Amino acid sequence: MAEKITAYRFDRLDQTLSQLNKENCLIIAGGTDVMVLHKSRRGVPPKFPKPIVFIDHLSELKRVYQNHKDLHIGSSCTYSELLEDPFIPLPLKNAIKTIAAPAIRNRGTLGGNICNASPAGDTLPLLYVYNAKLLLRSVNGDRVVAISDFIQGPRRVGRDHNEILAEIILPSVFEEGSHVVFEKVGNRNADAIAKVSFAGYIRINGARIDDVRFAFGAVGPTMVRSIDIEKKLLGHTIPLADADIAQVVADFDKIIKPIDDQRSTALYRKTVALNLLHYFLSTSQNHPT
Ligand SMILES: Cc1cc2nc3c(=O)[nH]c(=O)nc-3n(C[C@H](O)[C@H](O)[C@H](O)COP(=O)(O)OP(=O)(O)OC[C@H]3O[C@@H](n4cnc5c(N)ncnc54)[C@H](O)[C@@H]3O)c2cc1C
Repeated sequence: MAEKITAYRFDRLDQTLSQLNKENCLIIAGGTDVMVLHKSRRGVPPKFPKPIVFIDHLSELKRVYQNHKDLHIGSSCTYSELLEDPFIPLPLKNAIKTIAAPAIRNRGTLGGNICNASPAGDTLPLLYVYNAKLLLRSVNGDRVVAISDFIQGPRRVGRDHNEILAEIILPSVFEEGSHVVFEKVGNRNADAIAKVSFAGYIRINGARIDDVRFAFGAVGPTMVRSIDIEKKLLGHTIPLADADIAQVVADFDKIIKPIDDQRSTALYRKTVALNLLHYFLSTSQNHPT
Protein backbone atom coordinates (compact mmCIF):
# COMPACT_ATOMS: atom_id res chain seq x y z
CA MET A 1 0.00 0.00 0.00
CA ALA A 2 1.19 3.55 -0.80
CA GLU A 3 2.62 5.52 2.12
CA LYS A 4 0.45 8.36 3.39
CA ILE A 5 1.80 11.88 3.10
CA THR A 6 0.64 15.10 4.70
CA ALA A 7 -0.33 17.76 2.16
CA TYR A 8 -1.55 21.31 2.79
CA ARG A 9 -3.45 23.54 0.40
CA PHE A 10 -4.54 26.70 2.19
CA ASP A 11 -6.82 29.36 0.71
CA ARG A 12 -4.52 32.22 1.65
CA LEU A 13 -0.82 33.06 1.66
CA ASP A 14 -0.80 34.09 5.36
CA GLN A 15 -2.14 30.65 6.37
CA THR A 16 0.53 29.00 4.21
CA LEU A 17 3.28 31.11 5.76
CA SER A 18 2.04 30.35 9.24
CA GLN A 19 2.18 26.59 8.53
CA LEU A 20 5.67 26.93 7.04
CA ASN A 21 6.73 28.68 10.22
CA LYS A 22 5.47 25.76 12.33
CA GLU A 23 6.69 22.93 10.15
CA ASN A 24 9.45 22.44 7.58
CA CYS A 25 7.49 21.58 4.42
CA LEU A 26 8.35 20.96 0.80
CA ILE A 27 6.84 23.75 -1.30
CA ILE A 28 5.17 22.67 -4.54
CA ALA A 29 4.23 25.28 -7.14
CA GLY A 30 3.78 23.63 -10.56
CA GLY A 31 5.55 20.50 -9.36
CA THR A 32 7.36 19.98 -12.67
CA ASP A 33 10.77 19.80 -10.98
CA VAL A 34 9.62 18.42 -7.62
CA MET A 35 7.76 15.46 -9.15
CA VAL A 36 10.75 14.47 -11.26
CA LEU A 37 13.13 14.81 -8.32
CA HIS A 38 11.00 12.63 -6.03
CA LYS A 39 9.60 10.16 -8.54
CA SER A 40 9.49 6.48 -7.68
CA ARG A 41 9.35 3.62 -10.10
CA ARG A 42 6.50 3.43 -12.60
CA GLY A 43 3.03 3.25 -11.04
CA VAL A 44 4.31 4.09 -7.55
CA PRO A 45 3.50 7.53 -6.07
CA PRO A 46 6.44 9.88 -5.48
CA LYS A 47 8.21 9.76 -2.12
CA PHE A 48 8.44 13.11 -0.35
CA PRO A 49 10.88 13.56 2.54
CA LYS A 50 8.56 15.96 4.41
CA PRO A 51 4.99 17.29 4.34
CA ILE A 52 4.12 19.16 1.18
CA VAL A 53 2.42 22.51 0.78
CA PHE A 54 0.85 23.66 -2.49
CA ILE A 55 1.19 27.31 -3.52
CA ASP A 56 0.24 27.21 -7.21
CA HIS A 57 -3.32 28.50 -6.62
CA LEU A 58 -2.56 31.41 -4.23
CA SER A 59 -3.84 34.63 -5.82
CA GLU A 60 -1.32 36.68 -3.79
CA LEU A 61 1.47 34.94 -5.76
CA LYS A 62 -0.08 35.38 -9.18
CA ARG A 63 -0.11 39.15 -9.67
CA VAL A 64 1.93 40.94 -12.35
CA TYR A 65 2.10 44.72 -11.92
CA GLN A 66 4.13 47.82 -12.66
CA ASN A 67 5.48 49.89 -9.77
CA HIS A 68 7.11 53.07 -11.13
CA LYS A 69 9.69 51.71 -13.60
CA ASP A 70 9.91 48.27 -11.96
CA LEU A 71 8.01 45.15 -12.94
CA HIS A 72 6.75 42.80 -10.20
CA ILE A 73 5.97 39.22 -11.20
CA GLY A 74 4.16 36.85 -8.82
CA SER A 75 6.26 33.73 -8.28
CA SER A 76 3.41 31.29 -8.97
CA CYS A 77 2.58 32.70 -12.41
CA THR A 78 2.86 29.87 -14.89
CA TYR A 79 4.82 30.26 -18.10
CA SER A 80 1.59 30.14 -20.11
CA GLU A 81 0.14 32.97 -18.02
CA LEU A 82 3.29 35.05 -18.48
CA LEU A 83 3.21 34.53 -22.24
CA GLU A 84 -0.26 36.13 -22.25
CA ASP A 85 0.65 39.05 -19.99
CA PRO A 86 1.22 42.42 -21.72
CA PHE A 87 3.70 43.59 -19.03
CA ILE A 88 6.19 40.75 -19.59
CA PRO A 89 9.16 41.96 -21.69
CA LEU A 90 9.55 40.32 -25.09
CA PRO A 91 13.00 38.78 -24.38
CA LEU A 92 11.54 36.97 -21.34
CA LYS A 93 8.63 35.73 -23.45
CA ASN A 94 11.12 34.51 -26.07
CA ALA A 95 13.02 32.60 -23.39
CA ILE A 96 9.79 31.10 -22.02
CA LYS A 97 8.83 29.89 -25.50
CA THR A 98 11.98 27.74 -25.53
CA ILE A 99 11.01 26.00 -22.28
CA ALA A 100 9.64 22.48 -22.50
CA ALA A 101 6.29 22.02 -24.28
CA PRO A 102 2.87 23.61 -23.59
CA ALA A 103 1.83 21.00 -21.01
CA ILE A 104 4.83 21.84 -18.80
CA ARG A 105 4.44 25.56 -19.53
CA ASN A 106 0.87 25.31 -18.21
CA ARG A 107 2.19 24.08 -14.84
CA GLY A 108 5.79 25.34 -14.48
CA THR A 109 6.32 28.69 -12.75
CA LEU A 110 8.95 31.40 -12.78
CA GLY A 111 9.40 31.04 -9.01
CA GLY A 112 9.98 27.30 -9.45
CA ASN A 113 12.66 27.86 -12.09
CA ILE A 114 14.53 30.19 -9.71
CA CYS A 115 14.17 28.08 -6.56
CA ASN A 116 15.14 24.91 -8.42
CA ALA A 117 18.39 26.71 -9.25
CA SER A 118 19.40 24.47 -12.13
CA PRO A 119 22.52 25.67 -13.99
CA ALA A 120 20.41 25.16 -17.15
CA GLY A 121 17.31 27.03 -15.92
CA ASP A 122 16.24 28.98 -18.99
CA THR A 123 14.89 32.10 -17.35
CA LEU A 124 17.98 32.59 -15.19
CA PRO A 125 20.48 34.25 -17.61
CA LEU A 126 17.87 36.89 -18.44
CA LEU A 127 16.92 37.43 -14.82
CA TYR A 128 20.62 37.97 -14.04
CA VAL A 129 21.04 40.62 -16.75
CA TYR A 130 17.81 42.31 -15.65
CA ASN A 131 19.44 42.52 -12.16
CA ALA A 132 16.35 40.76 -10.80
CA LYS A 133 15.57 41.10 -7.11
CA LEU A 134 13.59 38.54 -5.20
CA LEU A 135 11.03 39.35 -2.56
CA LEU A 136 10.96 36.63 0.09
CA ARG A 137 8.04 36.62 2.50
CA SER A 138 7.64 34.92 5.89
CA VAL A 139 5.63 35.49 9.07
CA ASN A 140 8.47 37.81 10.10
CA GLY A 141 7.98 40.12 7.11
CA ASP A 142 9.60 40.67 3.74
CA ARG A 143 13.22 40.78 2.62
CA VAL A 144 14.62 41.52 -0.83
CA VAL A 145 17.76 39.85 -2.21
CA ALA A 146 19.57 39.98 -5.53
CA ILE A 147 19.07 36.81 -7.58
CA SER A 148 22.86 36.36 -7.79
CA ASP A 149 23.02 36.21 -3.96
CA PHE A 150 19.96 33.96 -3.66
CA ILE A 151 21.19 31.24 -6.03
CA GLN A 152 24.23 29.65 -4.39
CA GLY A 153 24.80 26.48 -6.42
CA PRO A 154 22.97 23.73 -8.29
CA ARG A 155 19.64 23.27 -6.44
CA ARG A 156 20.97 25.42 -3.58
CA VAL A 157 19.33 28.73 -2.67
CA GLY A 158 19.50 31.08 0.31
CA ARG A 159 15.95 30.54 1.52
CA ASP A 160 14.93 30.00 5.15
CA HIS A 161 12.49 27.11 5.58
CA ASN A 162 9.70 29.50 6.66
CA GLU A 163 10.07 31.74 3.58
CA ILE A 164 8.26 31.76 0.24
CA LEU A 165 9.57 33.51 -2.83
CA ALA A 166 6.65 35.86 -3.39
CA GLU A 167 7.71 38.19 -6.21
CA ILE A 168 10.40 38.59 -8.81
CA ILE A 169 11.21 42.27 -9.32
CA LEU A 170 12.79 43.50 -12.56
CA PRO A 171 14.15 46.97 -11.69
CA SER A 172 13.83 49.79 -14.25
CA VAL A 173 12.58 47.42 -16.89
CA PHE A 174 10.22 50.07 -18.22
CA GLU A 175 13.10 52.50 -18.78
CA GLU A 176 13.62 53.29 -22.47
CA GLY A 177 16.77 52.57 -24.42
CA SER A 178 17.98 49.12 -23.41
CA HIS A 179 18.35 46.20 -25.79
CA VAL A 180 18.16 42.67 -24.42
CA VAL A 181 18.67 39.33 -26.13
CA PHE A 182 18.38 35.70 -25.06
CA GLU A 183 19.89 32.77 -26.94
CA LYS A 184 19.51 29.10 -26.08
CA VAL A 185 21.36 26.30 -27.80
CA GLY A 186 19.84 22.86 -27.36
CA ASN A 187 19.07 19.80 -29.44
CA ARG A 188 15.81 21.36 -30.63
CA ASN A 189 14.23 24.82 -30.62
CA ALA A 190 12.01 23.92 -27.66
CA ASP A 191 11.40 20.95 -25.39
CA ALA A 192 15.14 20.53 -24.89
CA ILE A 193 17.37 21.36 -21.94
CA ALA A 194 20.00 23.98 -22.80
CA LYS A 195 23.54 22.96 -23.69
CA VAL A 196 24.44 26.65 -23.41
CA SER A 197 22.40 29.79 -22.94
CA PHE A 198 23.31 33.46 -23.10
CA ALA A 199 21.65 36.74 -22.22
CA GLY A 200 23.02 40.14 -23.20
CA TYR A 201 21.85 43.60 -22.14
CA ILE A 202 23.13 46.87 -23.58
CA ARG A 203 22.09 50.50 -23.17
CA ILE A 204 23.58 52.93 -25.63
CA ASN A 205 23.43 56.71 -25.33
CA GLY A 206 24.26 58.31 -28.68
CA ALA A 207 27.10 55.98 -29.62
CA ARG A 208 28.35 55.50 -26.04
CA ILE A 209 27.80 52.36 -23.98
CA ASP A 210 26.07 53.43 -20.75
CA ASP A 211 25.40 49.96 -19.41
CA VAL A 212 26.21 46.44 -20.53
CA ARG A 213 25.61 43.05 -18.90
CA PHE A 214 26.14 39.40 -19.89
CA ALA A 215 25.12 36.10 -18.30
CA PHE A 216 25.80 32.55 -19.44
CA GLY A 217 23.79 29.47 -18.45
CA ALA A 218 24.74 25.77 -18.39
CA VAL A 219 28.48 26.51 -18.39
CA GLY A 220 29.07 26.48 -14.63
CA PRO A 221 27.37 25.58 -11.33
CA THR A 222 25.39 28.84 -11.47
CA MET A 223 24.99 31.61 -14.06
CA VAL A 224 28.34 33.12 -15.09
CA ARG A 225 28.34 36.90 -14.86
CA SER A 226 31.24 39.29 -14.23
CA ILE A 227 30.57 42.90 -13.32
CA ASP A 228 34.34 43.59 -13.50
CA ILE A 229 34.48 42.56 -17.17
CA GLU A 230 31.27 44.46 -17.97
CA LYS A 231 32.71 47.64 -16.43
CA LYS A 232 35.60 47.62 -18.88
CA LEU A 233 33.19 48.37 -21.74
CA LEU A 234 31.41 51.31 -20.12
CA GLY A 235 31.99 54.57 -22.00
CA HIS A 236 33.25 52.81 -25.15
CA THR A 237 31.63 53.86 -28.41
CA ILE A 238 29.97 51.54 -30.88
CA PRO A 239 30.80 49.87 -33.17
CA LEU A 240 33.30 48.31 -30.79
CA ALA A 241 36.87 47.87 -31.99
CA ASP A 242 37.86 44.29 -32.78
CA ALA A 243 40.57 44.45 -30.11
CA ASP A 244 38.02 45.43 -27.42
CA ILE A 245 35.70 42.59 -28.41
CA ALA A 246 38.62 40.15 -28.40
CA GLN A 247 39.63 41.35 -24.91
CA VAL A 248 36.14 40.77 -23.46
CA VAL A 249 35.93 37.34 -25.08
CA ALA A 250 39.41 36.48 -23.71
CA ASP A 251 38.35 37.62 -20.22
CA PHE A 252 35.28 35.33 -20.27
CA ASP A 253 37.40 32.51 -21.71
CA LYS A 254 39.25 32.53 -18.38
CA ILE A 255 36.16 32.28 -16.15
CA ILE A 256 33.81 30.03 -18.14
CA LYS A 257 34.52 26.49 -16.98
CA PRO A 258 31.87 24.10 -18.33
CA ILE A 259 31.74 20.34 -17.80
CA ASP A 260 31.22 17.33 -20.08
CA ASP A 261 27.88 15.61 -19.49
CA GLN A 262 25.22 13.62 -21.38
CA ARG A 263 23.99 16.78 -23.12
CA SER A 264 27.25 18.23 -24.43
CA THR A 265 31.01 18.53 -24.09
CA ALA A 266 32.86 21.22 -22.19
CA LEU A 267 34.68 22.26 -25.37
CA TYR A 268 31.46 22.68 -27.36
CA ARG A 269 29.82 24.63 -24.55
CA LYS A 270 32.71 27.01 -24.16
CA THR A 271 33.15 27.59 -27.90
CA VAL A 272 29.46 28.32 -28.41
CA ALA A 273 29.22 30.54 -25.32
CA LEU A 274 32.13 32.69 -26.52
CA ASN A 275 30.73 32.80 -30.06
CA LEU A 276 27.38 34.07 -28.75
CA LEU A 277 29.17 36.78 -26.78
CA HIS A 278 31.30 37.73 -29.79
CA TYR A 279 28.22 37.95 -32.00
CA PHE A 280 26.35 40.10 -29.48
CA LEU A 281 29.28 42.52 -29.17
CA SER A 282 30.09 42.72 -32.85
CA THR A 283 26.48 43.53 -33.73
CA SER A 284 26.21 46.15 -30.97
CA GLN A 285 25.87 48.92 -33.56
CA ASN A 286 22.62 47.26 -34.73
CA HIS A 287 21.05 47.45 -31.30
CA PRO A 288 18.52 50.28 -31.20
CA THR A 289 19.37 53.26 -28.99
C1 LIG B 1 9.53 17.48 -19.33
C2 LIG B 1 10.16 18.69 -18.68
C3 LIG B 1 10.79 19.62 -19.48
C4 LIG B 1 11.41 20.74 -18.91
N1 LIG B 1 12.03 21.64 -19.72
C5 LIG B 1 12.63 22.73 -19.18
C6 LIG B 1 13.29 23.67 -20.01
O1 LIG B 1 13.32 23.56 -21.24
N2 LIG B 1 13.89 24.73 -19.41
C7 LIG B 1 13.87 24.93 -18.06
O2 LIG B 1 14.43 25.91 -17.57
N3 LIG B 1 13.25 24.04 -17.24
C8 LIG B 1 12.63 22.96 -17.77
N4 LIG B 1 12.01 22.05 -16.94
C9 LIG B 1 12.05 22.25 -15.49
C10 LIG B 1 10.81 22.94 -14.86
O3 LIG B 1 9.66 22.82 -15.66
C11 LIG B 1 11.07 24.43 -14.56
O4 LIG B 1 12.23 24.58 -13.76
C12 LIG B 1 9.88 25.09 -13.86
O5 LIG B 1 10.03 26.48 -13.91
C13 LIG B 1 9.72 24.67 -12.40
O6 LIG B 1 8.58 25.36 -11.89
P1 LIG B 1 7.53 24.57 -10.96
O7 LIG B 1 6.52 25.58 -10.56
O8 LIG B 1 7.03 23.36 -11.62
O9 LIG B 1 8.49 24.21 -9.73
P2 LIG B 1 8.27 23.09 -8.62
O10 LIG B 1 8.64 21.76 -9.16
O11 LIG B 1 6.96 23.23 -7.97
O12 LIG B 1 9.39 23.58 -7.58
C14 LIG B 1 10.77 23.60 -7.91
C15 LIG B 1 11.57 23.97 -6.66
O13 LIG B 1 11.31 25.30 -6.26
C16 LIG B 1 10.70 25.35 -4.96
N5 LIG B 1 9.71 26.42 -5.07
C17 LIG B 1 8.81 26.59 -6.08
N6 LIG B 1 8.18 27.76 -5.94
C18 LIG B 1 8.67 28.34 -4.82
C19 LIG B 1 8.39 29.57 -4.15
N7 LIG B 1 7.52 30.47 -4.62
N8 LIG B 1 9.07 29.85 -3.00
C20 LIG B 1 10.00 28.98 -2.53
N9 LIG B 1 10.30 27.81 -3.12
C21 LIG B 1 9.64 27.49 -4.25
C22 LIG B 1 10.18 23.96 -4.70
O14 LIG B 1 10.14 23.64 -3.33
C23 LIG B 1 11.22 23.12 -5.44
O15 LIG B 1 12.39 23.01 -4.66
C24 LIG B 1 11.38 20.92 -17.48
C25 LIG B 1 10.72 19.99 -16.68
C26 LIG B 1 10.12 18.87 -17.27
C27 LIG B 1 9.42 17.86 -16.38
